[in-house]
Amino acid sequence: MNTENTSSGALRKIIYIIAAVVLAAIVFAVWRANTPPAPAAKPETNLPIASWTCPMHPEIHLPAAGKCPKCGMNLIPEKKP
Ligand SMILES: [Zn+2]
Repeated sequence: MNTENTSSGALRKIIYIIAAVVLAAIVFAVWRANTPPAPAAKPETNLPIASWTCPMHPEIHLPAAGKCPKCGMNLIPEKKP
């Protein structure tokens, strides 16, 4: 009777540990499900640069960064909408 009690006590301990792990896994899964994976709104910086333009001369469209051929200002990246 004594041996049965100790073995059932050990079994009960294992069941408690398994139950705790399963419970923790469920709580973690629910927490993960409720947490949004990543912010949907991303800044424009990820948009590809179509061309480079002059802030003073919007008609200028150059494929690479540099200076405006008309006024010599540094070109700014012109992004696709
Ligand atoms: Zn210019």
